[in-house]
Amino acid sequence: MAGTVLVSGGSGYIAGYVIRQLVGEGWTVRTTVRNLAREAEVRRVLAVDNAKLSFFGADLESDAGWAEAMAGCSHVAHVASPFPATAPKHDDELIVPARDGALRALRAAKAAGVRRFVMTSSTAAIGYGHAGVERPYTEAEWTNVHGPNLSAYVKSKTIAERAARDWVAREGGGIEFCTVNPSLVLGPVLSADMSTSVEAVKKLLDGSVPGLPNLSFPAVDVRDIADLHVRALNAPNMAGERFIGSGPTATMADMAVILKRRLGTEARRVPTIKLPDFLVRIAAMFDPVMRQVTGELSKPKTMDASHARDKLGWKTRPIEESVVDTARSLIDLGIVKV
Ligand code: NAP
Repeated sequence: MAGTVLVSGGSGYIAGYVIRQLVGEGWTVRTTVRNLAREAEVRRVLAVDNAKLSFFGADLESDAGWAEAMAGCSHVAHVASPFPATAPKHDDELIVPARDGALRALRAAKAAGVRRFVMTSSTAAIGYGHAGVERPYTEAEWTNVHGPNLSAYVKSKTIAERAARDWVAREGGGIEFCTVNPSLVLGPVLSADMSTSVEAVKKLLDGSVPGLPNLSFPAVDVRDIADLHVRALNAPNMAGERFIGSGPTATMADMAVILKRRLGTEARRVPTIKLPDFLVRIAAMFDPVMRQVTGELSKPKTMDASHARDKLGWKTRPIEESVVDTARSLIDLGIVKV
């Protein structure tokens, strides 16, 4: 199928790959950016057939622009949501745009007669705030936003997905709504304006972490997660669906071994010593990016993506390829000097 689709947040990492795949498959794509002055730069980065892509200005925090962006669209991939590397002063700085932005996009979609709305949620809305879960998480689970040490980002994704689902149940009319819930997304970055999710690989490669924290992440490749969005846009009977988009779990130590083995001297700054949790907590007092993840130290989690595989025929590439391609892109774009 190929129609007219709006992908929100065209300047973003995941949205960029979703747009590339959709244009490649013949869709007419519209995208939103907060500031239309970025259109030329984002077009250069995406490097797709310009005639198939148009830009609209719309901010998650304002109604302006959403109706124009949606007009004539049959499908929406609502990808935009704040994902900063450091914690905001107040949780609402993330929760309000994530939640209200999703509701704005949904209301505009309904008014425009959109049939299918795929929202980019996260495993952040699934696997946090529960103590000692050792089995893989499934789509049946929800993050407990009242759990200890949850970041504003985790809360924002959970609250936004719940609010969107509640709105669709109450007022959605004929909209078929579903979510894609990615884990940590890795893979080649398209520009220096890159997602927070590649920070782990960047910090290993540039040597800015002195050792390896006991952190592990269920991870997935950005090209595979874009493909999951496109499958969710295309497949029949998606109303209410929720798809975990994840490959296996990798530790920081696993990633370091991959980088050392595959990049040789270019990985010379990648640390090899494992850091005890107490040292990481001390270091995090001086590093706001690290502070975001200390709640996850020594708490490996896994995600069960069998629903996406079984229902949508989705496949993932090996984590090794994603880690190496992330690093390669950071080096090639001059973001990390090795
Ligand atoms: P990203 O590159 O930082 O993209 C975020 C996008 O959201 C950017 O286009 C950004 O626009 C836009 N945005 C943020 N605040 C906005 C606002 N107030 N109004 C309009 N647009 C706004 O991050 P990403 O990794 O691609 O994330 C995309 C989506 O995937 C998000 O919903 C994120 O929660 C979700 N996700 C990501 C991961 C991951 O590991 N990367 C995992 C699970 C879920 P600007 O360029 O103007 O800032």
